[in-house]
Amino acid sequence: MRLFMILLAFVFVFASCEEDVTEKPAEKSNPVLVQVSVIDALLQGFYDGFLPLGELKTYGGYGIGTFHALDGEMVVYNDTVFQVKADGKVYLPNDTETTPFAAVAPLLVDTAFSMQEITYSTLKDDFSTFFPTPNIFYLVKIKGEFSYMHTRSVPAQVKPYRPLVDVTATQPEFEYENIGGDIIGFYCPDYAKGVNVTGLHLHFLDESRQKGGHIIDFTLKSGTMELGYLLDYRLILPEGGDFYGGDFSIDRTDELEDVEG
Ligand SMILES: [Zn+2]
Repeated sequence: MRLFMILLAFVFVFASCEEDVTEKPAEKSNPVLVQVSVIDALLQGFYDGFLPLGELKTYGGYGIGTFHALDGEMVVYNDTVFQVKADGKVYLPNDTETTPFAAVAPLLVDTAFSMQEITYSTLKDDFSTFFPTPNIFYLVKIKGEFSYMHTRSVPAQVKPYRPLVDVTATQPEFEYENIGGDIIGFYCPDYAKGVNVTGLHLHFLDESRQKGGHIIDFTLKSGTMELGYLLDYRLILPEGGDFYGGDFSIDRTDELEDVEG
């Protein structure tokens, strides 16, 4: 019996050695969309940040979101987190600051398009002509010159937090003409309802990194749109806090439409 065990161990070791010299297939690594909390938590007014920005950046160099206490709109661009506050100005927050809601991904461009004279509503209507299916996630990156850009931000909230739809009812809005810059955001499929914003959700950062915000409307003069296909999705949820007592049984589609508009 003992001999058998030794023999078995030898065979195992030998097999392991064999495996080491065998060529492994190239590791397939799809880019992962990493999301912090869910949109229906934000709609309920759960604005306490819990994931440090320093950690968020390790999951992807491009994305959007907001900050602790809803203190502005987030644009993550080329590994840098930009904070567009309610005064319309852009700040660089510390890595120790936190987010209650964000989504980031690494930029791996699958398709690119040059675009001329297109409005946000046309892009939304025609977006299906740019991708192979509406049923996966996309990182959306547009660099261009805009004849018109309409954005908003949100002011920092104090507790007790109000629902997002009440906050955005009096949001500061900004309009710019003939401005160059970058758009970052995501397209999420219809089945992501409640988890993220379905369809397009885009944020803007001007080329001088002084202006930006959540996009309400734009007219692109000329530019390039890059899309990264995202087939891998990871959710990071808060440990405790308001989230554990939240009510996720309510359909908040109408609230979200008000917020987005
Ligand atoms: Zn937004």
